[in-house]
Amino acid sequence: MAEKKEEFIKVKANWNIPFTHSAGKCASHFFQEMREKKRILGIRCPKCQRVMLPPRSFCERCFVATTDWVPVKDEGVVESVSINYMEYTGMPKPPYAIAFIRLDGSDSNLMHFVGGVDLSDWKKAKDLVKIGTRVKAVWKEEREGRMTDIMYFKPVSAK
Ligand SMILES: [Zn+2]
Repeated sequence: MAEKKEEFIKVKANWNIPFTHSAGKCASHFFQEMREKKRILGIRCPKCQRVMLPPRSFCERCFVATTDWVPVKDEGVVESVSINYMEYTGMPKPPYAIAFIRLDGSDSNLMHFVGGVDLSDWKKAKDLVKIGTRVKAVWKEEREGRMTDIMYFKPVSAK
């Protein structure tokens, strides 16, 4: 007699678990400067001299504490970019572009949105936002001390 296969019941559910956590000393200072002074700070490793952005409390290459805050420009160059046309949970309505941006004065990349240009036609969008495109931060008027205080980075060539 064949043994009956055990059935596994699937339960569909949506979990929404809001929580608050401390940004920590390093990120808190970084976000305060953005909120109050519209200023982006990197942090320098005293050993290898790299300016890291977003700032972190230690250099992951040298394993030493970082100490020196360094203002970087809110303008830089796209190092890599993805222009998205699919809708994903928790993400903006497409199309949108996400890029790694090397801000002037930093030795690492910041991930952020690139906007302020028409991305609806990918054949045109790929020329508007690409590796090497210079971009500048578009700040919110009312800032909260979050990465989203910068709405997006806009190509400087865009009007
Ligand atoms: Zn280092």
